[in-house]
Amino acid sequence: MSKTDELDADAIRELLRTEGDGIKENTRHFNEERYERIEEVGSETHERYRSEARQVKEDAIERLPELVERTTAAVEDNGGTVYVADDAADARRYVRDVVDEDDAESVVKSKSMTTEEIELNEALDASGVDVWETDLGEFVVQIAEEGPSHIVGPSLHRTREDVTELFEREFDTDERLDTAEKLTAFARDYLGERIEDADVGITGANFVLADSGSIALVTNEGNARKCASVPDTHVAVAGLEKIIPSVGDLHPFAELISRAATGQHIPQYLSILTPPVDTPTVDFDAPDEAGFGGSDADREFHLVLVDNGRREMRDDDDLRETLYCIRCGACANSCANFQSVGGHAFGGETYTGGIATGWEAGVEGLDTAEEFNDLCTGCSRCVNACPVKIDIPWINTVVRDRINRGKDPGFEDLLVDGLVPDEETAGTPLRKRFFGNFETAAKLGSATAPLSNAVASAGPVRAAMESLLGIDARRDLPSFERTTLRDWASDREAAVTDPRRRVALYPDVYTNHVQTSRGKAAVRVLEALGCEVVVPDVGGSGRAPLSQGMIDTAERKAEAVGETLGDYVDRGYDVVVVEPSDLAMFDREYERLVDEDVHRTLSDNSFELFEYVYGLLENGADESVLTAGDGDGVAYHSHCQQRTLGLEPYTEAVLDRLGYDVLTSDVECCGMAGSFGYKTEFYELSMDVGETLADQFADAADERTVVASGTSCLEQLDSLLAPAPRHPIELVDPGA
Ligand code: SF4
Repeated sequence: MSKTDELDADAIRELLRTEGDGIKENTRHFNEERYERIEEVGSETHERYRSEARQVKEDAIERLPELVERTTAAVEDNGGTVYVADDAADARRYVRDVVDEDDAESVVKSKSMTTEEIELNEALDASGVDVWETDLGEFVVQIAEEGPSHIVGPSLHRTREDVTELFEREFDTDERLDTAEKLTAFARDYLGERIEDADVGITGANFVLADSGSIALVTNEGNARKCASVPDTHVAVAGLEKIIPSVGDLHPFAELISRAATGQHIPQYLSILTPPVDTPTVDFDAPDEAGFGGSDADREFHLVLVDNGRREMRDDDDLRETLYCIRCGACANSCANFQSVGGHAFGGETYTGGIATGWEAGVEGLDTAEEFNDLCTGCSRCVNACPVKIDIPWINTVVRDRINRGKDPGFEDLLVDGLVPDEETAGTPLRKRFFGNFETAAKLGSATAPLSNAVASAGPVRAAMESLLGIDARRDLPSFERTTLRDWASDREAAVTDPRRRVALYPDVYTNHVQTSRGKAAVRVLEALGCEVVVPDVGGSGRAPLSQGMIDTAERKAEAVGETLGDYVDRGYDVVVVEPSDLAMFDREYERLVDEDVHRTLSDNSFELFEYVYGLLENGADESVLTAGDGDGVAYHSHCQQRTLGLEPYTEAVLDRLGYDVLTSDVECCGMAGSFGYKTEFYELSMDVGETLADQFADAADERTVVASGTSCLEQLDSLLAPAPRHPIELVDPGA
């Protein structure tokens, strides 16, 4: 199946059925290999390369105009030509002119996303030129007449059996191509002949080195080097962002790119060419003659540097980071949704995976980005995977915000606009406003519970919610507690008179209104360990509106939370957070939403609940006051944000210390992701992602108590497993 234009439940169901297995198997393999290679090289060394690579990219994009000039001078000194194409049409025209002037009938290409972006193959085809993709994955999708499903592995969605069937149907083969080796050998021979006959070779460039005019090509098949050196005319097409200052800056990328992409130690081929290359052209009819029967006299080289929106992206504070991307695909591999549906859903005209939103918004426009932007749940698993530390979830959020603002308001939008307490413009989709204003619904729900729960669960109401708001009727809705955590806490007597620490327990919206039991357990545990605990009168962190791309609303909430909790910190309280996604807000997103000082204060003084309990125990608190495990089995799933922040081990360590036998899931994400799993078009995808977790716990669930740290994870596990999962703090709660 090729790229779907309409991302609805049917299209997703079809992709889950046809492409999901291939994508899952391949991306998970890449992830496992990546984790292993990082462990081998050492996370400290890996992080040093990431920082160096980021630094080089920041510097290169900052100095882009100067580097373009230096590149041009160097390439011209070497005897080549540089053309800076304003847009895709300009780039296509230039390459077509080169091909026409050469009277070329046949062109061979190595893998290049930039040529996909400018739709070069279609343009050359239309001119009557035979174009052959020589990367095996690209060759497969070319033969299948479909778009790539992954930046690095274009045919990742296809199984070996698929490719056998495809090749045997398309080619008159002498033998059955029923193994990977036979398929590869066939493609190598077939494409080798095309390379021999080609008049022009077209490559991309992973990096362009400004000081020497060289290009660096990273491949696993060696085909790029052949495309560049066998035909006497070589055209390299690269985005402007591919320029780095010099070969000295290449090192961190050479270390990182294959490790991040496919989990390889090093790329099979890293070719640094300074074209026009000196290699003599080859006369394949006289390959044994001196100089291979060819000559080096008539080589031609054209470097086409494509702008196509990149200079505007450079001037855009939020999209600029996209230009640091080295197209390794690690963000796609680490994304749970991508693992299930691949790039034919999670991608635009050209680019796929998490960073595709930035690329598509920059080079194509918001309309294309809108087609798949909602598939990013903001889980942030891609953040640590990215070798150049791009804040991919933030780019997705910003683009979502811009898409919301670009909508024309209808009559109902104008009505709603006056009724909801947010900062958004009329036209922001109703469903986004509903989820973004969940705190308001929660306040109302608690104030009128249990009636609110009964009404919301009634069949006609669910049907109306499904048709008006796209909330899938198969999902259980949260059940609001009449007594909120704050109300409960404010009615209690102070339990600790001489506290070892003073804690402001942050009452996130769910812990305050829905899952109050975990909040109460947290209060009792912290008090048992000698802390004074208060539950401040403070609103939502802004996570809900931010997840809907409602940045102004999130900013207003963040400022209010920053002010209230900052005041507690000033008075000597530590902030303890139950919900990992809210802690991630304080630690990461608040950097963009509140003043630097406020962010620093909250980031430095906020702790994940088990991180804090662990710290208390390490500093002498008496663990015997907590409920011990006595070898009881626990199956534990940590929240994705918790893992991104590196906080998962604290829960394991505390449970282990208290005598629980802990089995931890290695699933990237539960698939629920806040509002995502409620949405009708994403319900089945959400469940598909969750199935992986359910499978992992299926055997364990009979003998172990299933626990999870995040609101969404608890909801998802509740719908997938019986009995209902619990928050780990409830296990150790002495008052339970
Ligand atoms: S954003 Fe980062 S992880 Fe994703 S493709 Fe680009 S470099 Fe790789």
